[in-house]
Amino acid sequence: MSSNIGVMGHPIGHTKSPVFQQAGLDELGIDEKFEAWDVLPDELEEKVKTFRAEGFLAACVTLPHKQAVIPLVDELTEAAQAVGAVNWIFNRNGKLVGHNTDGTGFIRALREKAGFDPGGVDAVVFGSGGAARAIVYALKTAGVGRLTIANRTLEKAQALASHFSEGRFKPNAIGMSRDELVDYVPYATLLVNTTSLGMAGGPAEFATPITADMISADAVGYDAVYAPPMTPFLTEVENAGGRSAGGITMLVFQGIEGFEMATGQKAPVETMFSAIEQALKSG
Ligand code: NAP
Repeated sequence: MSSNIGVMGHPIGHTKSPVFQQAGLDELGIDEKFEAWDVLPDELEEKVKTFRAEGFLAACVTLPHKQAVIPLVDELTEAAQAVGAVNWIFNRNGKLVGHNTDGTGFIRALREKAGFDPGGVDAVVFGSGGAARAIVYALKTAGVGRLTIANRTLEKAQALASHFSEGRFKPNAIGMSRDELVDYVPYATLLVNTTSLGMAGGPAEFATPITADMISADAVGYDAVYAPPMTPFLTEVENAGGRSAGGITMLVFQGIEGFEMATGQKAPVETMFSAIEQALKSG
């Protein structure tokens, strides 16, 4: 079995990608092993050069390399340019194409797993880092109504809002104090946490960007954080009577688009989801 596809990052031990990617490859009878490559920043350039080899399919790119790979590829897709980050590199006859599937992964997760279409709705995105950038781009493309970006560092929310402002699409940028949030959060039917609040092993594992008293019972809350599956933010959404969805579906759908672009075949979506669900159950 050859290894012409994989994920690279540092550290990489925690990655869930090989579990569901391998299930997809096996289901389609593609004789490849989906590998996890631990690549230090100073090894990145040499590693990316190997992706030009004949037969190499694609590499999924994760932290901390999503921006550093940009000058190392030959071409960027529109999504990668807009988001300013690459999470997949495809080998097209020796030419490397950098793409970003985080945003489209989020929208598919929302539509297909949470049963929610963001077209025309009032939404609040908490956070202004890499995940927020991909999600704001995706919400804009999906035709969200009024969008508010709330972040601890107000300047970053303002920069993100102005980067994507165009025509009638003009996101509000606010800080994270209750006084500011109260003017927007109770009216939103979509709340998305893209901060690292609530992330297992992170510095604010038990924190949430917002509490139930401000959340509408009509709201859907999506958390980009996927470990743990039920975060403090999602608990607050449910306590308010809203519907909650965790970030594992975004992770799998970003991988599914990458899988399809790498193999040229339709991904076995159910098989890939079953594999990750099984892996999460068994810890
Ligand atoms: P990032 O670029 O480092 O951004 C982190 C964000 O969290 C920033 O907005 C930061 O605010 C905020 N933050 C951090 N600590 C905070 C605190 N104590 N209080 C308030 N805000 C705080 O990280 P990222 O790449 O966007 O990732 C964010 C989360 O999304 C991670 O948990 C990651 O695992 C997850 N993620 C999931 C997927 C998926 O497929 N499901 C994809 C990408 C990322 P400041 O700007 O003020 O520092």
